[in-house]
Amino acid sequence: MNGKGLKNRRALFVALALVVLGGAAAVSCYLGMVPQAKAQESTTTSSMILMDTVVDVRVDGPRSASLVERVFARMEELERVFSRFIEESEVSEINRRAGEWVEVSPLTLELVELGIEMGRITEGAFDITIGAVLDLWGFGSDFHRVPTEEELADALATVDYTRVEVDGERGAVRIPQGTVLDLGGIAKGFIIHQATAILREAQVDRSMVNAGGDISVVGRRPDGRPWRVGVQDPEDPRSIRYVLPLDDQSVVTSGDYQRYFVVDGVRYHHIIDPFTGYPARGLRSVTIVGDNPAVCDAISTAVFVLGWERGRALVESLPGVEAIIISETGAWISPGLDQAMLTQ
Ligand code: ADP
Ligand code: MG
Repeated sequence: MNGKGLKNRRALFVALALVVLGGAAAVSCYLGMVPQAKAQESTTTSSMILMDTVVDVRVDGPRSASLVERVFARMEELERVFSRFIEESEVSEINRRAGEWVEVSPLTLELVELGIEMGRITEGAFDITIGAVLDLWGFGSDFHRVPTEEELADALATVDYTRVEVDGERGAVRIPQGTVLDLGGIAKGFIIHQATAILREAQVDRSMVNAGGDISVVGRRPDGRPWRVGVQDPEDPRSIRYVLPLDDQSVVTSGDYQRYFVVDGVRYHHIIDPFTGYPARGLRSVTIVGDNPAVCDAISTAVFVLGWERGRALVESLPGVEAIIISETGAWISPGLDQAMLTQ
């Protein structure tokens, strides 16, 4: 299966998930209930392909149409800064000039610093220098293959987030020669966070930014109840296994069904264990709920790598972070979620 096919399938699943949750129904119901009462208030929803996935934005409140436009423009702009697959991006420049200091914009500095911090918190399960290993497997291209042990060993020697240097005063970043910076495990969450910050600042009544199932919301639904977000069943990603209430929070999922290829009946997916160089085994999906979608994004990837025991321990050690971990044999729902969780 090639990358395009995967992308389309993913987009379809996302679309299905949204239909199940009745987002559109909620909009029309809201409009129906308050006909002309608040003339300048409006709901605007729009979708765009960004960050290799379908991004949906919904904003309720005055100037919603122009806010949606602003948010998409901002997300597009940030993708062009953070993607290592866009030649003009700042991350591409850092990679091209590995070994030298590269001056970057304040947001790139912030994102790299957060990436390093996530490496520290997860004891290296999340590592923003994983790029060379991803390249060997062909993730990010349409050409996938299983690398040899020797190739993996060489690439793994370039992976070490502690060797990424940040000079806050100069606004510069330096990585060692041979290392490939990859912010794919955190940039999407960071971009959603920036989008949501714009909407919060504009004091929208409510909003939802959904990038392929990674979601950040402001406020509550028009009926005053929390938003409802579906968590896909990794066994059958077209169906929803849990429905999470979301109240001014974010939810991010990492799963082995999102991007993968199959060789000789073995499935190889895009979340790599930085200690072995192979796709992390054991879990099927990890969903993280918290306040900051960038942190949720990195933690979901890290918990996936750490597995059932150590992943749970990490979630339990982080205040304000909740999780649903689904393995081949069972599911764990963190105690903070248990109460409010709605099962299908
Ligand atoms: P998705 O991008 O599908 O939402 P994730 O948030 O789990 O999924 O991120 C996976 C991406 O993170 C990969 O495509 C790759 O760019 C990057 N990545 C893979 N393994 C790691 C890792 N161990 N640490 C940091 N980033 C990783
Ligand atoms: Mg992630």
